Amino acid sequence: MPPADGETWRQNEMTTDPRWSRCPPGTLRQMADSSRNARRTRRGLLAVGVAGAAAAAGIVWLAGQPQPVELTCAQVDHLADAYVAKRLSQTRRDQVDRHRRMCARCDARLRQMESAAAV
Ligand SMILES: [Zn+2]
Repeated sequence: MPPADGETWRQNEMTTDPRWSRCPPGTLRQMADSSRNARRTRRGLLAVGVAGAAAAAGIVWLAGQPQPVELTCAQVDHLADAYVAKRLSQTRRDQVDRHRRMCARCDARLRQMESAAAV
């Protein structure tokens, strides 16, 4: 579709107007490059932010993890009978309870034993 007469006139005015020829060649390219660089910097900052958040989350996760003196599943299995019969010391019992909270397998097993013992 050919441009309207007014459109053509305005384009001619723009190209002949000194205000529009002041930009040295390459300005647009420089602008494009700088905006690309800015975008790259933003992406870099985002990556740093994500890594930082992940590291912080990892520290929180580590802090939330119980100490490595926790019972193993085998130890819990070994203590299960005494635990269900409530013959364990409070300390041992706490250890088993703590293991139950983070081990679905042992928790389910002990739950089963408890309900069997309750019958
Ligand atoms: Zn376990």
